[in-house]
Amino acid sequence: MPDLADGVARFQRDVFPAKADLFARLATHHTPHTLFIGCSDARVVPELITQGEPGELFVVRTAGNLVPAYTPGANGVTASIEYAVAVLGVSDIVVCGHSACGAMTALAEGHDLSGAPVVADWLRHADAALARTAGMAAGPQKTAALVRQNVYAQLANLATHPSVARAFAEGGVTLHGWVFDIAGGRIERLDAAGAGAALVS
Ligand SMILES: [Zn+2]
Repeated sequence: MPDLADGVARFQRDVFPAKADLFARLATHHTPHTLFIGCSDARVVPELITQGEPGELFVVRTAGNLVPAYTPGANGVTASIEYAVAVLGVSDIVVCGHSACGAMTALAEGHDLSGAPVVADWLRHADAALARTAGMAAGPQKTAALVRQNVYAQLANLATHPSVARAFAEGGVTLHGWVFDIAGGRIERLDAAGAGAALVS
């Protein structure tokens, strides 16, 4: 395993001193402007691709950037969304999919997930997106289409959370759908043409 301590030492020596004032303020203030929901994929790093400073993004990362539709009861994704929206009062929420997503590729190509049953169950939260691409033959085009449809589907799921619905109704939050292209470093902003996209700006 690479020695993470080397990175920590570099941070403390080369990075932190220039941001010491920022961290001093952040020590007592937590006011992120955006809830960023992205994939756990190691190649999709929210603060890097947005060039956000510490304190700006409240980040939730899940396999496939999936957001289960609201159900009563405690779970980590729902609690994090509620905290960001109802307590911290973020003004924007980004759901960010990405190219070459392992979760979306597995669904688009019908991979055997019997060796990862929890993953298979988790990916059911993308059923609506998968249904919208059901007529396409498996291949890169279907995977790319599924990545986009999945962002729309997860925005729709997000809107079922009471904290988000309340903030949205009051005009207090704006939802955005993004797709990050790993090879080109580009962000595609999804427009209102997709299903459920009335929520997207
Ligand atoms: Zn992914």
